[in-house]
Amino acid sequence: MKLKAESNQRTVTYSPSWTLIPTHYCRNTCGYCVFVEREGARAQLVSIAQARLEIERARAAGATELLMMSGEGVETSRHIRAQLKSEGFACYVDYLICIARTALERDMLPHINIGNVTFEELTALRSVVPSMGMMLETIDNALRGRAAHNRAPDKEPARRMETLRAAGRARVPFTTGLLVGIGETMRAREETLHSIAEIQIAYGHIQEAIVQPFTPHAGTAMENCAAPCFEEMRDVVQLAREILPPEVIVQIPPNIAARFVELVEAGARDLGGVSPDGDRINPRERWLAPKTYAKALATRGYTLQARLAVHRKWITPRWLAAETLQATRRVTQRLPKFKANVCHATNGDAHAHVSCYTIATI
Ligand code: SF4
Repeated sequence: MKLKAESNQRTVTYSPSWTLIPTHYCRNTCGYCVFVEREGARAQLVSIAQARLEIERARAAGATELLMMSGEGVETSRHIRAQLKSEGFACYVDYLICIARTALERDMLPHINIGNVTFEELTALRSVVPSMGMMLETIDNALRGRAAHNRAPDKEPARRMETLRAAGRARVPFTTGLLVGIGETMRAREETLHSIAEIQIAYGHIQEAIVQPFTPHAGTAMENCAAPCFEEMRDVVQLAREILPPEVIVQIPPNIAARFVELVEAGARDLGGVSPDGDRINPRERWLAPKTYAKALATRGYTLQARLAVHRKWITPRWLAAETLQATRRVTQRLPKFKANVCHATNGDAHAHVSCYTIATI
């Protein structure tokens, strides 16, 4: 089965996803983070047996992507080092490879985001992982002295740029992006986008760039800071579309970015992972059912299409290891397919489309 072109101007994509958090432990303390835990069960490592159960739940729910996401510097925790040893793993990457392989065997594609990684780690992971990600967030060094990143050594821009380059050298299709509204200037946003564009021109592995709004959370250093307004988000999406090479898809998260259809009109073409299990990073902001997004998009003449964790352009032997390339063919069969019948309104009102829009599984 062949996927239809994702680059179609009126097509918006999303990935049916499920999030597995190996651990909430992280050595950083970003000024906006409600994910990190240093004590208790959530700071421990999920056992392989638990991970297998989670993969079965994900598959039963129809997910085709297993998003594995954790904090950084996980092996600085002596509890986690002890857990890895007791499960028979030499390191965190070996543990992740074991879970990723289980996902592949169950016809799900793992996508891993564990922050900064080395070339050697990327090379090991790519044997069973078709795509990875890490938010660059911002290239603005000034934030290292402010609430956002003053206690987050792994957010040093040079360090994150090195990870993006290492992923390019290792030929790992990669997702990165900006976090908008953490104290950076508009000029810094522009420079961050130019940095991503330069990386893409040099290596060709950046499949998408997320434009994600900062969300204030109670109990964090930035709880009283304001989230970016819609106009700011729209301007950054437009800027991203102008600066990034055309093959880099601009992604927006529809559960935390207000007025997502207008952001699509500004240039975004992907909604990222949409999970029936909720957003594990922003637990208050659940996703709606894909059909609901499809219906909203259809009012402006866009079609929603499910995609794999790795975008179509990168599904080639150059970018994927043999095991993951074979898995993409099998997982494609499991993608939900939408058929949108959009009647053309006779009164010229684009919104009249909604009254005769249907969606069906084909
Ligand atoms: S690096 Fe990620 S997980 Fe760690 S504190 Fe920052 S935002 Fe949270």
